[in-house]
Amino acid sequence: MSPARNIDLSPFNTLALPGRAARYERITAAGQLAEIPQTETRRFILGGGSNLVLSGDFAGLVLHMAILGKRLVKEDAEAWYIEAGAGENWHDFVQWTLAQGWPGLENLSLIPGTVGAAPIQNIGAYGLEVCECFHSLQAWNFQRGEFVSFDREACRFGYRDSLFKQQGWHLSGRLAIVSAVFRLPKQWVANLRYADLAQELASCEIATPTARDIAAAIVAIRQRKLPDPAVTPNAGSFFHNPLVEPQVADALAAAHPGLPRYPQPDGRVKLAAGWLIEQAGWKGKALGPVGMYEKQALVLVNHGGASGADVRRTMAAVQAAVREKFAVELSPEPIFL
Ligand SMILES: Cc1cc2nc3c(=O)[nH]c(=O)nc-3n(C[C@H](O)[C@H](O)[C@H](O)COP(=O)(O)OP(=O)(O)OC[C@H]3O[C@@H](n4cnc5c(N)ncnc54)[C@H](O)[C@@H]3O)c2cc1C
Repeated sequence: MSPARNIDLSPFNTLALPGRAARYERITAAGQLAEIPQTETRRFILGGGSNLVLSGDFAGLVLHMAILGKRLVKEDAEAWYIEAGAGENWHDFVQWTLAQGWPGLENLSLIPGTVGAAPIQNIGAYGLEVCECFHSLQAWNFQRGEFVSFDREACRFGYRDSLFKQQGWHLSGRLAIVSAVFRLPKQWVANLRYADLAQELASCEIATPTARDIAAAIVAIRQRKLPDPAVTPNAGSFFHNPLVEPQVADALAAAHPGLPRYPQPDGRVKLAAGWLIEQAGWKGKALGPVGMYEKQALVLVNHGGASGADVRRTMAAVQAAVREKFAVELSPEPIFL
């Protein structure tokens, strides 16, 4: 292994933030990971950089996951089992499964990033979380110097959460996911739980949608609502939707009519972070080069030339405004490096 030195990371993060990696290696085969010397203790595993805030230069080794490959590994009476390399583009992978006639992942169309990062924050959208279709993953454990497997239970998935985040491994670079297997049930049922999706299909006069109809509808909605990172750098939803106790939600709704509330199976209530930010006056507002997107207040955007410090400043100002108006804490979704 001979890593490149002093590499510019700005093309590798969708917020287009500046920062250089002291050492950088593109990983195209799992075997490369075993060759990394034990002395390289400061590591960061990089996928598509679409859930990342770069604070500046990184003094360690960046391992850019580019392992490709996708295949049907098993099929039984109930399901298809599909494996993909960690470096596969997530959206392309989803479209490929649909083209093969294996539905199930369509609600997660057009989420940027890689297959390997999908389990890290248990990506979710339009009424589906990836854990619902997840079977297992393979990762290189740097401490043990061996490949390890995790099944669904071992990943301890939660809302935008997993074992990898709970243990802080997503920041310590302890594990590099090399591939993941998804289980797609043959008894497919259209997932139309999300109101926007049902409306989009109705407006196209599609009464009994196929999985590909659903994917197309989601792509259309997302293209309308979200800024394209290639044009307006961003990291998608910047804050988690806060979960509060029901009494807190009731009190907030009494004080702020129209507050969207989503009761959760565990008794808590999910609030819409985008609504709170908009009501706090931050939709379309900026502080220096960083602001909240004018069409979707939950998305933080880099209007040009921003640094990680600029992102932190705007983030803190938005959190303070929401705290002051609603006494609710917003926590950021992306990873800060
Ligand atoms: C426009 C836009 C829309 C988005 N919409 C959604 C959405 O609807 N739902 C949603 O959940 N997310 C969404 N996101 C966030 C993002 O797409 C996901 O979090 C995605 O899974 C990140 O993938 P990535 O490859 O870019 O990961 P990166 O940003 O490169 O990395 C994220 C974290 O995962 C770790 N990681 C990455 N690859 C590996 C690996 N192979 N092994 C071990 N660790 C790894 C990194 O170390 C880091 O901690 C959106 C982002 C954007 C820009």
